[in-house]
Amino acid sequence: MHSAVWSDEDFCKILDDFPVLKRQINGKRLVYLDNAASTLKSKSVIEKMTDFYLNHYSNIHRAVHTLASEATVAYEEAREKVAKFLNAKPEEIVFTSGTTMGINFLVNSLVRSGILKPKDTVLISQVEHHANLVPWVRLSKFYGFNTEYIKADEKGVITKEAILKAKSISPKIVSITGQSNVTGQEMPLELIREIFKDSILIVDGAQIVPHKRLDVKKLDVDFLVFSGHKMLAPTGIGVLYGKKELLEKIEPFLYGGEMIDKVTFEDVTFNILPYKFEAGTQHIAGAVGLGYTIDYLESIGFEKIERYISELSQYLLKRMLELDFVEIYGPVDDSHKSLVAFNVKGVHPHDVSHILDENFGVATRSGHHCAQPLMSVLARGSKIDFPNSTVRASVYFYNTKEDIDILIEGLKYIKRWFE
Ligand code: PMP
Repeated sequence: MHSAVWSDEDFCKILDDFPVLKRQINGKRLVYLDNAASTLKSKSVIEKMTDFYLNHYSNIHRAVHTLASEATVAYEEAREKVAKFLNAKPEEIVFTSGTTMGINFLVNSLVRSGILKPKDTVLISQVEHHANLVPWVRLSKFYGFNTEYIKADEKGVITKEAILKAKSISPKIVSITGQSNVTGQEMPLELIREIFKDSILIVDGAQIVPHKRLDVKKLDVDFLVFSGHKMLAPTGIGVLYGKKELLEKIEPFLYGGEMIDKVTFEDVTFNILPYKFEAGTQHIAGAVGLGYTIDYLESIGFEKIERYISELSQYLLKRMLELDFVEIYGPVDDSHKSLVAFNVKGVHPHDVSHILDENFGVATRSGHHCAQPLMSVLARGSKIDFPNSTVRASVYFYNTKEDIDILIEGLKYIKRWFE
């Protein structure tokens, strides 16, 4: 048995749902380790979406015909599924196009509502993805607020001490990733909430939501944003959760059809939550597909997925640490989840990634992972000629220890080849 989390039979059923895993890449079985960029898509979710598109699709909310009502019900059911998944209320769930849109939405809405004012401070961390960094840095230049950072250590780790040190800043807003897409570190969100009691807490859930159930009420986060495509769902659909009382207060980011109550030539009043934030025709089938995805993940057992990924993450880290010719970034403990960013000494990450694909059928990501400022932190702590980028291997629940073994074999081959 490959894992105690599920039987071989159940696991085979999971694999059957991802036909691409049987594909040969350069004569080798595909080993897909680029899940942090985007996960594979499940056949059963796609089949349900195809049925939706072929037999029930229409625009939503507007018309009174049967198809419109079926599509509207499916769309609103998807919202309810997301709400239940996060322990939120349906009116607190806004569909967006993804994490990037969610953060841009929040920065703009918080400024327009007068909640984020000139001279206020927004605290983010040095490990943020550009999606949770560029909007703050750039818009601070227009609106006059300050962006400060929780410092990362030389391995890119956000320590408890660094979080405590930032307390004296008394930020109006803390916007932090739930898990770094480079260092793999899961952030201590409970601790962050406790330390920054009086701040608005925004969590970038792009990496954490796909493999850890977040209870927004228990965590007491004010806003949570994530993308469907990193958890089997289609691209172009994402979620912004916001506490009802805050969503009621903030100004929409996008204006247009459907988000209004009354419009005159002079003014406008807004629709009720959450429609006030869903201007224009939405990615209807995407939202419906995200709902089907949540059904699917729950049918497998989200807690099992969480446990299995933790098990795989520990194995990945342990096997990578065995390689003395590899430099690894991020924490060396069990806060390091689902991915490892690394460099093979003396070999450019693009070459490593290319050889892994060409000779072993292993898909990894190489580059700066949309975290250029973090690359400069890692460069300072690096013992090698740091190439300002890394290779990243990331797992999801359809991966196996054997996939990781193939990655390790590939890395040993690369070392021999370059010698
Ligand atoms: N934040 C993190 C931590 C991410 O890993 C990503 C995607 N790599 C994003 C934000 C942006 O997500 P999207 O491209 O789906 O908007």
